Amino acid sequence: MTQPKPTKKTITIDTWQTHQAKAHHDPKKLLDTVGLPNEPSPAAEEANHQFPLRAPQAFVNRITQGDPNDPLLKQILPTPEEMIKAEGFTTDPVDDKTARTTQGLLHKYPGRVLLITTGACGIHCRYCFRRHYPYADDHLQGEAWQQALDYIAADKTIHEVILSGGDPLTLSDQRLNNLVHDLETIEHIQRLRIHSRQPVVLPARMTDELVKLLGDTRFATSLVLHVNHPNELNDEVAIALKPLREAGITLLNQSVLLRGINDDADVLSELSEQLFQAGILPYYLHQLDRVQGAAHFEVDDKHALQLIKQLRTRLPGYLVPKLVREVAGEASKLPL
Ligand SMILES: *Cc1c(COP(=O)(O)O)cnc(C)c1O
Ligand code: SF4
Repeated sequence: MTQPKPTKKTITIDTWQTHQAKAHHDPKKLLDTVGLPNEPSPAAEEANHQFPLRAPQAFVNRITQGDPNDPLLKQILPTPEEMIKAEGFTTDPVDDKTARTTQGLLHKYPGRVLLITTGACGIHCRYCFRRHYPYADDHLQGEAWQQALDYIAADKTIHEVILSGGDPLTLSDQRLNNLVHDLETIEHIQRLRIHSRQPVVLPARMTDELVKLLGDTRFATSLVLHVNHPNELNDEVAIALKPLREAGITLLNQSVLLRGINDDADVLSELSEQLFQAGILPYYLHQLDRVQGAAHFEVDDKHALQLIKQLRTRLPGYLVPKLVREVAGEASKLPL
């Protein structure tokens, strides 16, 4: 009898890049996946053309089936409302074009600079002010990186560098490693901050290499997440973040106040409580940047202030985020 030849089975484990590449980009298919009628209107198609749908499956999994008003779905689905032109809503509401110091570097506030490390994001949020800003050709690449380093090295008042974008955690670990090591050579930098939505929308991004690389620097490091609604948090996210906490990284969260999504005291208090359960402190609650196509998400200041007042009576002080707005030309985000 002949021995059967052992068959070689190849097991492929999807990397986070594969998950990223497989992100939803077709509104019809997304609607199918969440059990809704899949006929986008021509205006919704136009909105998708302007700023294409993008959402990883890990995020889509947290959308409730058959609910057209799901708070997560509303953050990602292109809709006809985006094509309405509203007074006061522009394509560069925070005036990033004039704040640009060298290519890919924004130095708006004393003591800290923000680096646009990439134009890419793992998810496309419909209310984002970046929907019109030409980040694609304004991020740090090639010579611009050296120019940014020179700028930071020449200004000893800069103590903190913020890696932003786009989303810096769409970059490879290798690229991030190089960025961080270059920054470490500048002695007056004490703090490193990462602004990212990736841990929430693509928990698989939190690789062991990433944790090691962020945990092993000489910097005091923080990661500022972006979560708007408690349904965005689940065990998968909490588990992905735990090693970062263990590595001594401070976890903070910023949210955007969004009509029909989180403009409700119950939702916001639950968000704060769930964030803290996952080891994250609420940092900012932003009034929406007045970007063209996002007017239908705006919450008026009076209602925003009422919400914060309600949160103060319900939550410990450390779980109440600071309500702020970004005003072009100001030296900080402005409290309301
Ligand atoms: C928001 C922002 C920062 C960070 O502000 P903090 O109040 O320190 O969180 C820094 N630089 C730029 C250009 C910003 O837009
Ligand atoms: S920058 Fe932030 S808010 Fe804007 S699309 Fe990217 S992840 Fe969403």
